[in-house]
Amino acid sequence: MIPLDHRSRSVFLSTAALWLGLSMCWVQPGSAQAEMLTREGVHLRLTSDVANEATLDEFVSSFDAAVPQWCEFWGVPTSQISRWKIDGYLMRDESTFRSMGVLPANVPKFRYGFASPAAIWIHQQSTAHSNRHLILHEGVHALAIKLFGGGGPSWYMEGTAELLATHRDRQVDSSARPAGLLAQASNRFLINDLPQTRQESPMWGRYRVVDEARHAQRLPTLASVMKLPINLAGEVESYTWCWAAALMLTHYPDTREVFIKAARNGSDQTPAFTTKVYRQLQQQWPVIRARWQLWLNDLEYGFDPESSQVELSVDDPRYNNTRLTSSIDSKLGWQSMGAWFNKGTRLKIQGTGSCVIVDENSVATDADDLSQTRDWTSGPDGVTVKYHRGQPIGQLQWCVLPIPSPEAKSLSPLEIGSVSSNETVIVEIKKPSWLLFRIHDIPGHNGRYQRSDNRGSYEVVVSP
Ligand SMILES: [Zn+2]
Repeated sequence: MIPLDHRSRSVFLSTAALWLGLSMCWVQPGSAQAEMLTREGVHLRLTSDVANEATLDEFVSSFDAAVPQWCEFWGVPTSQISRWKIDGYLMRDESTFRSMGVLPANVPKFRYGFASPAAIWIHQQSTAHSNRHLILHEGVHALAIKLFGGGGPSWYMEGTAELLATHRDRQVDSSARPAGLLAQASNRFLINDLPQTRQESPMWGRYRVVDEARHAQRLPTLASVMKLPINLAGEVESYTWCWAAALMLTHYPDTREVFIKAARNGSDQTPAFTTKVYRQLQQQWPVIRARWQLWLNDLEYGFDPESSQVELSVDDPRYNNTRLTSSIDSKLGWQSMGAWFNKGTRLKIQGTGSCVIVDENSVATDADDLSQTRDWTSGPDGVTVKYHRGQPIGQLQWCVLPIPSPEAKSLSPLEIGSVSSNETVIVEIKKPSWLLFRIHDIPGHNGRYQRSDNRGSYEVVVSP
C-alpha cells in the first residue's frame, strides 16, 4: 500500500512497456500454464491471470469513471491528467507476475495491494466489490504521486484512498431500485458513496470493525489515528479509522477545505504534515475531538454523514442555570442544547410531544416484517415493537459529551440515557460538557424503519 519512491519509476516503465505490447499470451510459471488477459481503458491498462473479459472490462470502466471524480474532489482540472495512464495487475498467482518481471523484485511482499507511480498490483479477492475497491484504492495512491508527489502520512494517505475507493456494488444497487430516472442515476458509478447494506459491499467490513471496537470499548481517539505509523501492513482496523477520519473531516464544512488542500503537501510523509493540518484547525480542535466520538458511535449501515453532523462550538455560552427549551427534530441525529455545562451542574430534563417514527408508505424489506396500514406515531418513550441497538425506536435520548482528553489513546464510552414521557430525569455533569438530544432511530433511507421517513419533533425542557 505504500508507494515506492520515484527512483523506481523508470524500472517499472521499461518492464511494463515490454510486457504490455501483448494483449494476451501464455506463460509457463513452473509447470502450470496461466492465461493472461489485458484490457485497456483511458487511465488503466489492466492485466490479469483471472481471465474473465467482462469482469476486467467492468473494473477498467469503473476506474475510468472514478478518475474525474477524484480530480473533482481535489479541485484538479481533468485536463491535467488527460494523458495519465497506469498499468494494473490483478493477480491470482503472484509468482506468475514475479517470473514475468512485471512485479519487480524491489516491490516488497504485500497483503492486499501496492502502488507505484506507474503501476498498481492487487492480490485477487473473493468478491468483485473487493477487487474493484482495491484497484481504486491503489489507483488513488498512484494518482496522488503523479499530482502531489505522494499521499502524505498514513492517516491521510490511506484515509483518502479509502474514501475515494468506497462505492456501492452497482449490480445489487440497480436491481434494488425501480426503473426510470432513479435506475439511471444509480447506474452512474459513484465513489465516496457509502454502502447502505452489507449486500452492497460484501467483505468491505468497515462497519463491522467499528462495531467490534465499540463493544470492546477501544475506539481510538482522533489524535492516535493521526499518529499511525507509516507502514500499516494491510491492517484492516487501522484503515477503518483512517477512512472514518477522512469521511468526517471532508463532510464537516469547517474542516473540509483544510483536509482537501493538505493533499498538495503529499510528498511530506513526516509528522510535519499533520502538524500543519492541526495548526490550521487549532481553534476547532476541541470540537473536532468531540465530533469524532459521536461519529464513531454512530457509524453503521445507513449512516448519513449529513444528518449526523452535530452543531458544537467552543464559543457556546455557559449555562446560566435558567430554563432552556429546545425542539428535537426526528429526522436528525444528535442535536445540542447550544450551551456549555459546568462540572457539578445538576439538571432536570423533561420531554413531551409526538412524531411520526415510521411512515405508512415506507416499504418493508425484512422478510419477518410486521404488517402496517398507517403511520407509527411515537412519544418520548419510543415504540416498543421495534428496537435498534437494544433501545426502542422513537425513544428520546440525552447524551452528556465532554471534550475527549487529548492524551488518551482510546475514547471513554459515551454517557447516554433516555427520557420517558411522565418522568423528570436528573443528570449530573461530572466534567465540563455539551448536552445533546436525539430521537432514537435506525439510520438510513431504505426500508420501513429508518430515520429519513420521520416527521415532527419532541420538546425538551432543561432546568436547574
Ligand atoms: Zn493504501
